[in-house]
Amino acid sequence: MMGRPAAERRQDLVSLFREARGCTRCPLHETRTQVVFGAGNADAALMFVGEAPGSNEDAQGLPFVGRAGKLLEELLLDNGLRRSDVFITNVLKSRPPANRDPHPSEIDACRPYLQRQVELIEPRVICTLGNFATKLLTGSPRGITRVHGQPQRHEIGSRPVLLYPLFHPAAALRTPSVKEQLAEDFGRLPALLGESAPGPESIPKDGALAEVRAEAEQLGLLD
Ligand code: URA
Repeated sequence: MMGRPAAERRQDLVSLFREARGCTRCPLHETRTQVVFGAGNADAALMFVGEAPGSNEDAQGLPFVGRAGKLLEELLLDNGLRRSDVFITNVLKSRPPANRDPHPSEIDACRPYLQRQVELIEPRVICTLGNFATKLLTGSPRGITRVHGQPQRHEIGSRPVLLYPLFHPAAALRTPSVKEQLAEDFGRLPALLGESAPGPESIPKDGALAEVRAEAEQLGLLD
């Protein structure tokens, strides 16, 4: 399916980022340091969706920059992928106080951002990390222990997408057997990306959001 040109979609993603930065749709705006919108390749074939920013992410404004992020990055590298190849975001864009679980009302308030991110980035594969992202995007109450490692075909924003539920890296850091399972499931990602690839350029290398952000800041678009 032909999407809109990548440059146009990237520009819309920058606009969405600007909108999200000032978001007050849920009470988390009162306690967050800043919005963690997501980062990476704005035209990525592969997207990761975690749960919510933690304290490191809240401080830096970037997703998965703490210990769980380090594990995610190692797993990517083990499978021939760099962080800059993929787009990483969360169900919630603001940190819940003391890292408590997201409330249903917060998930509802934030979900249009994720929906729009998926529509604009047009990933072919989305890895949902842990229960919250998995239940939200699959639309099913089945938890991660039952569905991890099993690709599911879905439609998001009228585009086909392969959802690939994975254990959350933070859970893997707590439990060695979960880490083993996560590494095993992760190992099937290159093949999954290959299977869903329209052509040899399965992972476009341009359009890193960090670059877009720098460009947009230079142009005064974000202020
Ligand atoms: N855990 C998450 O779910 N998201 C992050 O960005 C960091 C840790």
